Amino acid sequence: MNELQTLGWSEFFAAQVSEEEKKSAVPARVSAEHRTEYVVWTAESELRAELTGRFRHAVPQDVWPAAGDWVLVQPRGEAKAAVLRVLERRSAFMRKAAGPGLPAEQVVAANVDYVFLACALNRDFNLRRLERYLALAWESRAEPVVVLTKADLCGNLAEVRAAVENIAGGAPIHAVSALRGDGLDDLLPYLQPGRTAALLGSSGVGKSTLANRLAGQALLAVKTIGDDDTGRHTTTHRQLVRLPSGGLLLDTPGMRELQLWDAEQGVERGFDDVETLARQCRFTDCRHKAEPGCAILEALANGTLDESRLRSYGKLQREAAFQARRNNHRLASREKARWKSIQKNNQANERLKWG
Ligand code: GDP
Ligand code: ZN
Repeated sequence: MNELQTLGWSEFFAAQVSEEEKKSAVPARVSAEHRTEYVVWTAESELRAELTGRFRHAVPQDVWPAAGDWVLVQPRGEAKAAVLRVLERRSAFMRKAAGPGLPAEQVVAANVDYVFLACALNRDFNLRRLERYLALAWESRAEPVVVLTKADLCGNLAEVRAAVENIAGGAPIHAVSALRGDGLDDLLPYLQPGRTAALLGSSGVGKSTLANRLAGQALLAVKTIGDDDTGRHTTTHRQLVRLPSGGLLLDTPGMRELQLWDAEQGVERGFDDVETLARQCRFTDCRHKAEPGCAILEALANGTLDESRLRSYGKLQREAAFQARRNNHRLASREKARWKSIQKNNQANERLKWG
């Protein structure tokens, strides 16, 4: 395995680079995103990369590089580089961007192989939240791995694990205690050279503690001092961390609740037990209310389907559909804005030509 491959490079990305590009550009992985620049890793070194003016102009912000992305850069001396292009993502974990302003999707983790969905085995434990995270994970095209944290606090692990298995759709499930060091070895197979895992979950579930355990000395919170004079504002950033086991961990500090974004397929995949049942209903347009031959109602009656899971399915499905409609609308207005600016440009050119 060469250096690029240990960083996650594969034929999928190599195939996207033209002969022409190979002459002047170098592939690099985005290891951290800061406000105005990126830290990227090439086969040889770590560089600080910036977007060119042309890139900023031509590429909509929601497809700017994110942590984990593969980009083509042009080295520019003194450990610096310009980002020329973002390569197509093999996977992308998206969420609805938090904060004020128009709703937009945000890529939280690009090109990860596994998403560790961390849920704490304490009083906050919530299957419904896990269903939401699973839908997002399936949508991302990365493989979800359920990580039940704080196992030391759980007195009925077998029971909880069985409940999780029922909703996990075949995703592997591991119980760990970062505090005691229990179960950590079970995660090592996912953390081998060339592999990238992202650790996601609500705050307080023990992500940092687990990341520190897995990374040992490797993890140092990247802190930058804000350049405003309103005080010493420190922020932590999403970043890739190289683990002693050889794999990469995408650390996502400070992530709060995850909101669905356009995850209709993820919801379908996450609830394929319910979807399979629905396909067995006698009527194809069955609303699962009182129709004869309804497989869903039958499963509810005989206890193979949980009422709360069905409700959760309906809720996430509606939410995902709503976001998808919004997303389409937004893409449409972006297209319109682009067209307008092209027209304006043309008019300006015409004026130049004809005086
Ligand atoms: P994060 O917000 O997800 O990064 O969570 P932290 O790693 O900051 O942990 C939140 C709290 O849970 C801290 O007080 C940790 O000490 C505690 N914690 C983390 N892992 C474990 C564990 O395995 N067992 C127990 N009992 N507590 C833990
Ligand atoms: Zn039905």
